[in-house]
This record gives sequence, C-alpha cells and structure tokens, in this order.
Amino acid sequence: MRNKIVAGNWKMNTTYDEGENLIKGIIEKKSTVKSDVTLIVAPPFTHLCCFAEPLQKAGVGISAQNCANHEKGAYTGEISAAMLASIDVQYCIIGHSERREYYGETNDILLEKVKLALKYNLTPIFCIGEKLSEREAGKQFEVVKTQLQTVVSQLSAVDFAKIIIAYEPVWAIGTGKTATSAQAQEVHAYIRTVLKETFGAAADNTSILYGGSCNPATAPELFSQPDIDGGLIGGASLKADDFIAVASAF
Ligand code: PEP
Repeated sequence: MRNKIVAGNWKMNTTYDEGENLIKGIIEKKSTVKSDVTLIVAPPFTHLCCFAEPLQKAGVGISAQNCANHEKGAYTGEISAAMLASIDVQYCIIGHSERREYYGETNDILLEKVKLALKYNLTPIFCIGEKLSEREAGKQFEVVKTQLQTVVSQLSAVDFAKIIIAYEPVWAIGTGKTATSAQAQEVHAYIRTVLKETFGAAADNTSILYGGSCNPATAPELFSQPDIDGGLIGGASLKADDFIAVASAF
C-alpha cells in the first residue's frame, strides 16, 4: 500500500566527475534491488541538470537537497522550485536538520518551501526529528508533533497525499549512532498518529523514511518495522555498493 523508498542525500560531497562515477555505479547495480523499491538520489545542485536524464532512463529518481522559499527575484545564490522543475528534478529534500541548524530555517520558512515545491510538482521529502538534548529530556514526540503541525498539517488533503516524510533524529545523523529499530518504530508510529489527526486514513499511505547512520548492517531490521517505509541515507549513499545494499535490505 505504501511506497518503499530509499533516497541518498549526498550533501556537499562529490565533484562532478566523482558524482558521475557514483551514479554509474548505482545504475549498474540497480537490478539487484527489488522492483517495488523506489531509488532516489539527491546530488548537489551543480550535478542535477546532467544527471536527470541518465537517472530517469534507469528508473532512479532525482532530488534536490533544498529549494528557495521565494518564487523568484532578487535572492542572490538561491535556486527556485520552478528552476528545479524546469530541468526535470522530481523530488526536493526540505527541512533537513543541517538546514534548520546552520541556515536558520524555521518551520514557517519550511512551510513556504514545501508549498512552492508542490506548486511546481516536486515531491517534498520533508525532514523532522529531535536533537539529542530533546531526546534526553523525553521531548521527541512533542518536537516532531510541532514540526508536523506547523508545516504538514497546513497542507490541503490533495497536497498531503504527495508528500514524503523523513524522521531523522539529529543525534543519529552522521554520528554512526543509529536509532534502534524500536526507537525508530515508536516515533514513526507516533508520526502516523499525528498525521491521522488531520488527514485521517490517508496517513496510512504516507511513506515515512528513517534517516540517521542507516547502513547495510542496520537497514534490514529498521526496514522490517511496520511504520518504516525506507530510508534517507547520508554517508552510506556515497558508495554505490553500500547504497544498493541498503536498498536491498527490504
Ligand atoms: C542525512 O543527513 O540525511 C543522514 C541520514 O545522514 P547519515 O546517514 O550520514 O547519518
């Protein structure tokens, strides 16, 4: 019923040539991944235009890592949702914890980004998750609820049906400290409950991905949980073998 998705967030990694080798490796090995698993890669902006065609021919989705919260105009250095759509980008990661933390992206800004992405037919991969201090204070449920209610719950039912959620506990990102499958499942189930409060049974169709040091060793148990529909993968998406091994964990 829900789409199984494994998305690779390359962050600010790979020169153009390195990125080209990486997508070649992913495309070559893709046949070993079950056909009902959607693979998506999110390279840096500079690579998107040239990678869109080979990835789409191979049946791999292409995502940006961010987009502007304005439609167009005098915003030096920004990339709009319309620009991404014009080069056949299909998805856009929005609200990654690194954007929230280092670039001051608030829930209000993220709502603008999500709405613009949807306006231009990009599928948002909307990231939420608590920091270590919030987990230690037992506030993980409160934090994700606020992140959902201020952004996702503001969408129409039609737009909600298009969105992908990624739960990424900040303490697990790039730290090598994966959440246990029980910890992740508990929050994923809670996220679905919060979404049901606004959107009812439609929330049963929402793919909720886990992110945070997910790798070939930890993916099988995580992906076997009832509310975990795949992964948003950072470090392990930079090696074709590891990315494909994670995607083969279903
Ligand atoms: C991420 O940044 O989205 C992520 C999950 O990173 P990592 O897998 O490296 O923890």
